[in-house]
Amino acid sequence: MIIRPLSEHTVNLIAAGEVIERPAAVVKELVENALDAGAGRIEINLDNGGIDHIQVIDNGCGIEAADLPLAVSRHCTSKLFEDDLVNIKTLGFRGEALPSIGAAARLKIISRVKSAESAWQISVEGGKIINPSPAAGQMGTQVVVEDLFYALPARRKFLKTARVEYNRCEMIIQRLAISHPDVSFTLIKDGKTVLNLPIQSQKDRILAVFSDIHDEELIMLNFDRGDLKLSGFISAPSVNRATTNGQIMVVNDRPVADPVMQMAIRVGYRQVLEKGRYPVAVLFLQLPLDQVDVNVHPAKTELRFADEAAVRALIIGSIQKSLAIGAGVANVNPES
Ligand code: ADP
Ligand code: MG
Repeated sequence: MIIRPLSEHTVNLIAAGEVIERPAAVVKELVENALDAGAGRIEINLDNGGIDHIQVIDNGCGIEAADLPLAVSRHCTSKLFEDDLVNIKTLGFRGEALPSIGAAARLKIISRVKSAESAWQISVEGGKIINPSPAAGQMGTQVVVEDLFYALPARRKFLKTARVEYNRCEMIIQRLAISHPDVSFTLIKDGKTVLNLPIQSQKDRILAVFSDIHDEELIMLNFDRGDLKLSGFISAPSVNRATTNGQIMVVNDRPVADPVMQMAIRVGYRQVLEKGRYPVAVLFLQLPLDQVDVNVHPAKTELRFADEAAVRALIIGSIQKSLAIGAGVANVNPES
């Protein structure tokens, strides 16, 4: 028996299987990178549900020409300082999205930093890096991903129809847009602009993204308990859906899909919603960085809370009190 290390390309393909499940996962990684780069404007282009073409354009800090090969190399990141996995403020930190995408698809990055005279571009095809060359481009970064999974035919077979894949992409974009109302978002689907969100207030952003909800159907929520701070908007019980798509949870500015929080929302609404019906709930939880571990899953959407019971109690209590206040029930003290 001979034991030998896997090639870098194989390692990237294995990671791609985990990190890049489908077009929506690519969209998530690219938009998160744009947000981490401090972009104030993000444009997303999707063709054929993102299967043929995903392009994300931002006006963030850009990538230096000399750093482009590192950006597409495994475990290279500009975001983790002194290998500190506790105090993570950025959405990314694992340095594996771009190399994984580069292994599974055709990847092109065009980027320009403020101090540079021109933009530079780098391409990766089936894991092979094509050296950087000067290119035309605005300040910021443009990432193009084509023919997703052409290098992973087994995975390509599992893709659903373009419509289903597009809907998943849209859901991810809605989540990211709601968690960052201070950033403008444009979504172009097969050449047609379908979403155009200016920088706006938290509430206006929710109303713009969920066009089926009206102003008076949203109840504001704002509670503290020790180090935990919960704010956001929840829907009056009359607004409810058959899916949890309207539930958006943001923990320390990171959109997550955490089962503990999801369950707490369900319990909070138990008295007022039938089984199988779900509210719209956009919840922002802030807590000290050492009270939550984001390094649980490659997609970073699941969390481990140091004090899960406190998080659960805060969400359930806040929802119940807010619903009571929203319904005009007297004698409810929101501070208690
Ligand atoms: P991570 O986000 O975990 O660091 P990625 O593979 O997503 O890993 O990105 C690698 C690096 O490329 C990032 O750390 C960052 O320095 C750079 N980068 C990627 N996308 C952008 C972008 N849109 N703007 C500026 N820099 C970027
Ligand atoms: Mg990233």
